[in-house]
Amino acid sequence: MFHTSKIEISKSALKQNIDFVRNLIGPDVRYCSVVKGNAYGHGISLFVPLAESLDVRSFAVFSASEALRVLEARSEQSDIMIMGAIDRDQLGWAIEQGISFYVFELDRLRAALKQAQKIGRPAQLHIELETGMNRTGFEEKELREVVRLLKKHPGDFEIEGVNTHLAGAESSSNFLRIHQQIQRFHEHCAWLAQRGFQPRLRHVASSAATFTYPETRLEMVRIGIVQYGYWPTTETKMHYLLNYPRNGNNGGQNNSPEKGKRIARHTDPLKRIIRWSSRVMSVKTIGPGEFVSYGTSYQTTRRQQVATVPIGYFHGFTRGLSNIGQVLIHGKRVQVIGNVNMNMLMVDVTDLPGVKVGDEVVLIGKQKKMEISVASFADLTPFLNYEVLVRLPSEIPRFVVD
Ligand SMILES: *Cc1c(COP(=O)(O)O)cnc(C)c1O
Repeated sequence: MFHTSKIEISKSALKQNIDFVRNLIGPDVRYCSVVKGNAYGHGISLFVPLAESLDVRSFAVFSASEALRVLEARSEQSDIMIMGAIDRDQLGWAIEQGISFYVFELDRLRAALKQAQKIGRPAQLHIELETGMNRTGFEEKELREVVRLLKKHPGDFEIEGVNTHLAGAESSSNFLRIHQQIQRFHEHCAWLAQRGFQPRLRHVASSAATFTYPETRLEMVRIGIVQYGYWPTTETKMHYLLNYPRNGNNGGQNNSPEKGKRIARHTDPLKRIIRWSSRVMSVKTIGPGEFVSYGTSYQTTRRQQVATVPIGYFHGFTRGLSNIGQVLIHGKRVQVIGNVNMNMLMVDVTDLPGVKVGDEVVLIGKQKKMEISVASFADLTPFLNYEVLVRLPSEIPRFVVD
């Protein structure tokens, strides 16, 4: 099929990110790779085998349909964990496939135990505890009933994990709330353990908490955004740069008086792994005083060269970047002019002589010495870096490069 753009995923950059996290957490903490949202837009079917080639053996998704895609993509017997949606009639399938899933509703727990009994295979459960995010998770008052149900079904389940999710570890403004959550988590874990339910894996930390609250790493961390080369927030990055020694790993507990000086010696250890590019489709010269694209938001001030690129909001290039976005051509930044259309955008190449049809256009990533970062989208629009990435349509062909 013909596509107007392609996405390249760098294996060496991914390796660097994963190694970086692994060095930080050490060999005793399990690395669970979060690949929900089509692997944050990078593409599950490409990303999963690539991560497996770098010895990742544990993947987390949001839904049963994503779990199916990981199942089809994996080439090792990697673990798959569903953190959110699974319908009642998919529970049997998950149990048969050995796919683990969160339980946070008594109904789901009941149905899972019944299915497991019928199939004759234990359900692999992750008991999600409500600790203050107020999204999903068993409330304290429901835990007695959880225990009662489990005791009725010995042999029909294994408690693979007990977990919770923190409500914003990427910002210090949530510090007190996060601390309360961590404390509640341990209280409820202890309560379950007293009743004989000891999980193999306690897991709480996503990318931000892995860095900012190292005590939450426990037996497993759920790493999403960082493995793709992005910090959850600039604050998390600053926390890392200020608190961690250059090559070592002491869990952020470094109290050396030298600490402040170290920042100058740091460079960002994360590498973006995605590169999204297209090609110039048309070039034309327009006289002064003309409007470009729909409406009147852009008017030429002189004789200008305009290049049209076959990428629009349909392809994940948000209309919010009309007149303010930038792309790379010939290793130089050029400005988006006029409104971004459904399938096209226009850029001003007046000061870039020699641009012709077929020249490469980089929308995200590097070209020669320049780079368009996802953060630049996020700075110019209301979208988080997470959101910019997941908007990249799954139809765009994706390739692994070194
Ligand atoms: C998305 C998600 C993660 C990963 O978050 P990052 O900030 O991308 O590391 C971890 N846990 C849960 C429950 C999630 O939904």
